[in-house]
Amino acid sequence: MSKIIASAAIRGAHKIYERAEAKYKEALDKYGPKQEVAFPETAYFLPIIYGILGIEVTKLEDMEEVFKIAKSLLPPPVREKMPLPYLAPALDAGMATLFVEEMEQAIKYIEEPDFYLQGEECDVENGKIWLGAANDIILRKRGVEFVDGTAPGFAAIAGATDTVEQAKNLAQELQEKNLYVFMGAEHEGKRMAEQLVEAGVQIGWPTRLVPFGPDIASVAVFALGFATRAAMSFGGLKGGEFRKILIYNKDRVFSFVLALGTVTDEWYANAAGAINWGFPTIANTPIPEVLPTGVCTYEHVVSNIPVEEIVSKAVEVRGLKVTISEVPIPLAYGPAFEGERVRGDDIYLECGGGRTHAVEWVTSAEMDEVTDGKVELVGPDITDVEPGAKLPLAIKVEVAGRKMQEDYEPILERQIHHLINYAQGIMHIGQRDIAWLRVSKQAVEKGFRMTDLGKILHAKLHQDFGAIFDKCQVTVYTNDEDVEKILELARAAYHERDARIEGMTDETTDIFYSCTLCQSFAPNHVCIISPERTGLCGAYNWMDCKASYEINPTGPNQPVEKGEVIDPVKGQWKGCNDFLYQASRQVYDHYNFYSIVDDPMTTCGCCECIAAVLPICNGVMTVDRDFMGMTPCGMKFSTLAGTVGGGVITPGFVGHGKYNLTQRKWLAAEGGIKRLVWMPSRLREEVLDRLKIRCEEIGIPDLWQRIADETIGTTEEEILPFLQEKQHPALEMPPILGE
Ligand code: SF4
Ligand code: ZN
Repeated sequence: MSKIIASAAIRGAHKIYERAEAKYKEALDKYGPKQEVAFPETAYFLPIIYGILGIEVTKLEDMEEVFKIAKSLLPPPVREKMPLPYLAPALDAGMATLFVEEMEQAIKYIEEPDFYLQGEECDVENGKIWLGAANDIILRKRGVEFVDGTAPGFAAIAGATDTVEQAKNLAQELQEKNLYVFMGAEHEGKRMAEQLVEAGVQIGWPTRLVPFGPDIASVAVFALGFATRAAMSFGGLKGGEFRKILIYNKDRVFSFVLALGTVTDEWYANAAGAINWGFPTIANTPIPEVLPTGVCTYEHVVSNIPVEEIVSKAVEVRGLKVTISEVPIPLAYGPAFEGERVRGDDIYLECGGGRTHAVEWVTSAEMDEVTDGKVELVGPDITDVEPGAKLPLAIKVEVAGRKMQEDYEPILERQIHHLINYAQGIMHIGQRDIAWLRVSKQAVEKGFRMTDLGKILHAKLHQDFGAIFDKCQVTVYTNDEDVEKILELARAAYHERDARIEGMTDETTDIFYSCTLCQSFAPNHVCIISPERTGLCGAYNWMDCKASYEINPTGPNQPVEKGEVIDPVKGQWKGCNDFLYQASRQVYDHYNFYSIVDDPMTTCGCCECIAAVLPICNGVMTVDRDFMGMTPCGMKFSTLAGTVGGGVITPGFVGHGKYNLTQRKWLAAEGGIKRLVWMPSRLREEVLDRLKIRCEEIGIPDLWQRIADETIGTTEEEILPFLQEKQHPALEMPPILGE
């Protein structure tokens, strides 16, 4: 260890210790020793202290002991002539720094409870951007990406670049490598996060550009706290298992520190702290280097690297293997852009979302009918329309190959959602004939054209599913006439796929299938798909999951053995519960397949329909995504999806597919279709054939005519007289919410 650095780190650590101790004493006087201290909504106490020392700090007085330990770790200040050949004293100083800074941050949460925002998003409009400690929901959702490889790690950035443009480019370069970017600390009055806001870049957890706090302590404490919790949560480690926690991070989480600007003694102290986790520092200023390896995989501190080269240097120093998916489009591309939204003034073009038709369809063809890589646009391109335009859209993907089977079509089709979403500046929601696409002005400026949708799908489907097909061609339609034609063909195919499951019942199979594809948006969401309970997005039924499992045995669709029956009426099985518990990361230990009232299944944002209990009418309503109006439960579809769609269990509400509505087990615990008192007229039209059959089956052939719709009313009070007049069976049934 360079002596200069060691002495600077130790000097910095002493300064920070004194500052933090003074704050602690002040807080003790002001709030008393019993004052509770905590980071919001976490089971990991103050995570660095808990992870490394095993101490559970819950009250101010608990900090006493930690200060003592920190003090004992602090090496004496280094005098100029003293030889200091080892790294160890600086590492200890770094650890002590992090302990006391973490306590300082916890005190800040008492003193200024509103300083840090809660949740994933920044409030840029009101100038509030600092997100502070991530709660456990964010940890579970994001931390798992470090484990499954979706994100190799993070870059903790201190300071700022010279220009706003440089900051923007740096952020994008890191995003393209799928890294998270944690930001804090200022250099000459500037901070990277603020530069990004100035450049109009979306910051917050969804774009992986996370502004932790304004100073060096906040970014160090929250970044290393996050890494520590990830090791405990996903590595199954306990508080106090410090060696294992540090090694887990060194080996598994590819992270590093970028120091942009003047490296003060305090920065050195924090950099020394990060080295304990195996995270090296790369600086753009000429600070002394620490090259010999020891704790980190390669060098510990590398300096004087221009900002333009700093990412590739960091990647090399940290020994990171990055897989960049080469997708031949003019936009940045990768999972980091999946959570980004396009709204308001940013929208250049919109397709679907209830405003126009938008449909996507994967179909297999003969080998000689498909030209691999051919992408064609039929209809106007983005350059032919004005900003704010709306166009109809149909994406037809034709695949061919010796191993290709019709059964695989829905699986390839379901990928379209995230594959298109990965492009920067493009937002995609939904599936099948309820797709919804937004293209941002920035994307158009960068040269995005409608054929790029096809180029994305060709490149990525080959990459991920090349084993099951050989050729793929894509046609994108944007004129009404062709879109209508494709819509008809696609709907016929959806029908056929749906019908494959007809005749199978939940009782006749011992195996259900899971789907956890949506966990990137809804981290605890687990669909378990049975023959009579199709996926709530409508895109996956039991057959599809079975085929998906065959193609990809370690993928998102796993067989789930039903096991012992716990409740045949509500639809609960021991095997499903066990699977749910593990797949929801211990958040849920049971749910019912056939009930809306009693612990229904989790619901995520892609559901085709949402059903809700209507207590006054003693029944349920359901609404599909395309219906934009008010509904009798007092919420529009968009509000409902926002309220119940985060992957949680919400008694009284449940997401379901359109097809599932007319399956026999739909809400069977509450009496099934007999409870249905309201639905949009267009949805009824769409499912009418099957609905009529169901009505016959239950012996009330005209039930479909007794169900109210928006023309009758959009409140419970408005529709009740209609139901009474029609003698709707729900009115005679036992109270839906129990006695
Ligand atoms: Fe899978 Fe369920 Fe998401 Fe559909 S809604 S993709 S079935 S997790
Ligand atoms: Zn979903």
